[in-house]
Amino acid sequence: MTTSLSSEQVIRRLYQITSDHQKGLNLQILDLLAMGLDGFGLDIAILSKIEQNTYSVELCITPDDVEMNSGDQFDFAATFCDITCKAEGPVALEHVGEHHEYSSHPAYQAFGLESYIGIPIHVNGTLYGTLNFSSHKPFPRKFREIDIEALTLMASWIEVELTRREQELNLNALNYKLEQQANYDSLTNILNRRGMYTQLRQSLNQISRKSSDCVVAIIDIDHFKKLNDTYGHQKGDEALIKIAKNISDTLRNYEFIARIGGEEFLVWLPNTDQEGSAAVLQRIMDTVSDVSISTGKITISIGAYYFSSSQKQSTDFTVLIDELIAKADSALYEAKNQGRNRYVYYSE
Ligand code: GH3
Ligand code: MG
Ligand code: MG
Repeated sequence: MTTSLSSEQVIRRLYQITSDHQKGLNLQILDLLAMGLDGFGLDIAILSKIEQNTYSVELCITPDDVEMNSGDQFDFAATFCDITCKAEGPVALEHVGEHHEYSSHPAYQAFGLESYIGIPIHVNGTLYGTLNFSSHKPFPRKFREIDIEALTLMASWIEVELTRREQELNLNALNYKLEQQANYDSLTNILNRRGMYTQLRQSLNQISRKSSDCVVAIIDIDHFKKLNDTYGHQKGDEALIKIAKNISDTLRNYEFIARIGGEEFLVWLPNTDQEGSAAVLQRIMDTVSDVSISTGKITISIGAYYFSSSQKQSTDFTVLIDELIAKADSALYEAKNQGRNRYVYYSE
């Protein structure tokens, strides 16, 4: 056990482990921990994460008699990594019990580790955690320069990969945010016109292979201009937010609402029948009437187009969607004409 890996051996094994991308980062790091244990002849290997005063075990390899798992947390000040992070570089201790300073360190008191070699890990220029190897047994020789070099190489690779993983996560989060911004309305948080086309195309594609009855409904708030003029644009916006939320809440997960104009919404009800859809439209009218500004009651008019997906129609979904909307719109016009606060189905 007094052997140590040569730099070349470390580099060769490091290369084997790090080129095995298929495995995934966590398994690669575990291989690296195993390699370190092997090379140093120690029996506890940990990649830790440090946040404020908490030391968390990210990944570890321990002998059977040491109970430790990923996610375990310790007081950072009571670990040897506290020494390592303060040193801002590698720390190697062969026999802590005989060390003039560290034999009284809380980590020694708490865990009784006699030997330890560790190094800080930085990601994006800030402290991430540590890579460390230790044992309850004293180290049988002195740690050498070559041990520090091996540790530093391992840590460098982990730093690069963790940085890359973090950048990837940031990039995914950014892409998600951009997609949200592109497809969702920022005021009401429901789909915007663009998102509506995407969702409708998907849904139409799914139901085009079976016979299914659907309803497209266009909702327009009645006399909304007057409401704005009376209570202000801000109150108008608040009403739009509440209306969008209330309608969303009445829908099932395969139905959706989109904001397709200033105070106009589209509701998509696939897999319905005329009676069922009428009940939904009535529920929508009821839930909007719960929204009020001061004493002003809000009502809506709805134009609905009921159709069967087996009907002969355009196979270009974008054209089809525009046709569906045009028909629902003409029913909406009729609803407004008949005095508002009602739903009307399109008829030829
Ligand atoms: P009608 O019953 O015929 O629908 O009357 P209306 O006043 O609602 O007329 P219309 O449907 O043409 O609504 C247009 C008005 O909606 C104009 C504008 O004051 C208001 N509006 C449109 N977008 C917004 C918005 O984002 N916020 C607010 N507060 N008001 C909006
Ligand atoms: Mg309108
Ligand atoms: Mg209106």
